[in-house]
Amino acid sequence: MRVVVTGGAGFIGSAVVRLLASNPEHQILTLDKLGYAAVISSLDPVAGLSNHEFRQVDLCDGQALNQIVGDFSPQLILHLAAESHVDRSIDSPAPFIQSNVVGTFNLLESARLNRLAKRHADFRFVQVSTDEVYGSLGADGVFTEGSAYSPNSPYAASKAAADHLVQAWHVTYGLPTIITHCSNNYGPYQFPEKLIPLIILNVLGGKSIPVYGDGLQVRDWLYVDDHVDALWRIADKGSPGATYNIGARAERTNLQVVRTVIDAVAAVTGAEAAAMHARVTHVPDRPGHDRRYAIDPSRITHELGWQPSQNFESGIEHTVRWYLAHPQWCEQAGNQYHGERLGQLHHA
Ligand code: NAD
Repeated sequence: MRVVVTGGAGFIGSAVVRLLASNPEHQILTLDKLGYAAVISSLDPVAGLSNHEFRQVDLCDGQALNQIVGDFSPQLILHLAAESHVDRSIDSPAPFIQSNVVGTFNLLESARLNRLAKRHADFRFVQVSTDEVYGSLGADGVFTEGSAYSPNSPYAASKAAADHLVQAWHVTYGLPTIITHCSNNYGPYQFPEKLIPLIILNVLGGKSIPVYGDGLQVRDWLYVDDHVDALWRIADKGSPGATYNIGARAERTNLQVVRTVIDAVAAVTGAEAAAMHARVTHVPDRPGHDRRYAIDPSRITHELGWQPSQNFESGIEHTVRWYLAHPQWCEQAGNQYHGERLGQLHHA
């Protein structure tokens, strides 16, 4: 199968590329603008493979994108490129509108104008979206595919807008699209501004461990390789026009997450956990912070036979071991992260 993966130098996109390119029957074209969160060495495991090619392109450049997509003529587009960090969307929403909304529009147009659905009877466009488009839950209930859109952050609103474009291209132009809404991911190669790698690296670096507000916000956690497995099943067997929610029924408060990660680091390194727990610091909460997310994955479980392979504790242990075993990747990502933050301060 000929597959375009957008955002393939990012956390989840690179996991998709590493998996798909390991099958020589697939021909993979990875597209990424190499923004601040892209760590190009995440693609080292596929470097040199004859069935994988990387092109640096910004999805906001519609003309270049049209050309590249038309020349490659994919049977499948897995669309993961996005500005993905909620805090940044609050500080500076414009790049989110550009990449997530305009970028998705350009990608849809590249599929439509290149007549990919005519060229390939099995063509699919998979929009990788987020449970954050549904807004916040109270103490009870779960998000189903029928839940109403109610995004609260600029990030969530930009992803919701992109979903609406995708659905409109399906209904209006007959493009065979599928939308996925997954819960919070974690695992190897995640950029260190996100909660779990931030905790791991701060714990290992002897730094304080920041927790927003009371730390009782609930997220539903999914190991990245289980997400990739779900995406592949959806691309292969999902119904065009459908939406699939993906989650591992692993709800945890942020404080529970912090404690689990610290205990895993202590268990793996033999260091004393109590001193690490003492470095947990509560910081002012994020504005408009959604209180709880929880995904009902019944549709993907029953229709496509998907089940997560990791529970939260085993996934965290794998993740901690991976960060300990990859200091060079951590250094590169850490330098990008701190360089970017410095850059922001200089511009402030
Ligand atoms: P990430 O930030 O690690 O990677 C995103 C990648 O997209 C980066 O490599 C970046 O350079 C690239 N990109 C951004 N704008 C681009 C543009 N205009 N043109 C080309 N490339 C561009 O993000 P991630 O965590 O891997 O998330 C991937 C996708 O999954 C996103 O669409 C995100 O909304 C969605 N998602 C993520 C999570 C999560 O927990 N990480 C949960 C649900 C959904």
